[in-house]
Amino acid sequence: MQEHPETTAITAGRPDVAPDASLNPPIVLTSTFHSDGPVGYGRYGNQTWTALEEAIGALEGAPTLAFSSGMAAISAVFSILPIGAPVVASNQGYSGTMTLLKSFQESGRLEVRFVDIVDTQSVIDAMKGAALVWIESPTNPCLDVADLSTLIGAAKKLGIGVGVDNTFATPLVQRPISMGADIVMHSVTKFLSGHSDVLLGSLSTNDAVLRKRLQDARSFNGSIPGPFEAWLALRGIRTFPLRFNKSQESAKTLVPKLAAHPRITRVRYPGFGAIISFEVDGTAEQTQKVCESSQLIAHATSLGGVESLWERRRRWPIESSSVPEQLIRLSVGCEHVEDIWSDINTALGVI
Ligand SMILES: *Cc1c(COP(=O)(O)O)cnc(C)c1O
Repeated sequence: MQEHPETTAITAGRPDVAPDASLNPPIVLTSTFHSDGPVGYGRYGNQTWTALEEAIGALEGAPTLAFSSGMAAISAVFSILPIGAPVVASNQGYSGTMTLLKSFQESGRLEVRFVDIVDTQSVIDAMKGAALVWIESPTNPCLDVADLSTLIGAAKKLGIGVGVDNTFATPLVQRPISMGADIVMHSVTKFLSGHSDVLLGSLSTNDAVLRKRLQDARSFNGSIPGPFEAWLALRGIRTFPLRFNKSQESAKTLVPKLAAHPRITRVRYPGFGAIISFEVDGTAEQTQKVCESSQLIAHATSLGGVESLWERRRRWPIESSSVPEQLIRLSVGCEHVEDIWSDINTALGVI
């Protein structure tokens, strides 16, 4: 029987069992190692990273590399593509990824074919001759969902690489490697770490040649995680399924309440996960006022922590103009759902 992910999150990345061996991996704080070992220097490896990589790898089903942030992980993938390589990517998604891809497009570093990720046929049509398809699903912040298995199947038939940003779904909802994706990426900052206290990223791949190139990109761009951050993330992963399932259950309770609220015009929720995006019946300023009026929900960016957070995404100048001005992205935390709802209700009452 295959072990359940709830169990894997707790068992993976532990030191070998021996009398008085520690249950948890140590935080290995060193820049260098005594000679003649396989690592040698702290930019090439670290035992605390390895423990974290084992845990994420066990959850995603492929050997994993940890990076200093989610963006560092994404940058490593694009960095190994040839100059001018054609890349298919969603025209809407995480603002950092969008900004990076647009800058590559403008400089000629990559030829980016921006597509509507929910229009499966148009994505497949754009794949011809591409080097890589980069799929974020669900997308941040509009929560569009791609038909992953169809898109991966089409890309594989054409011999095109597929990378999936699995930050929002997490391996509890979808495991793209098992569908044939080449690379799965995480902003480990979010659900996996789960306490809004660390920035980290990861890439998982079963392709050893590809993994070596990504590892070299990490080593020589220097986009390595800190050992303490890796340890914090691994500690977070122990409770990731508990936190995610709790937040998801609360999100499912909140969605119909939000949809029925007279000051809300549209609720976006893909049916799973802990992020809800909704649009307020009002101006950008009124929407901003709602976000600033919460007492429990922190008015802050980011997501995936035990703390509920929300923000009006368009307050960020780099957010896409296709995201409505009145859209609030809510990351449902682990507080009692009635307290979260009461806070939302009160905040909506100020406009
Ligand atoms: C936050 C986020 C990223 C970037 O991760 P960082 O850890 O902030 O660098 C990438 N993709 C998605 C979907 C995100 O939410």
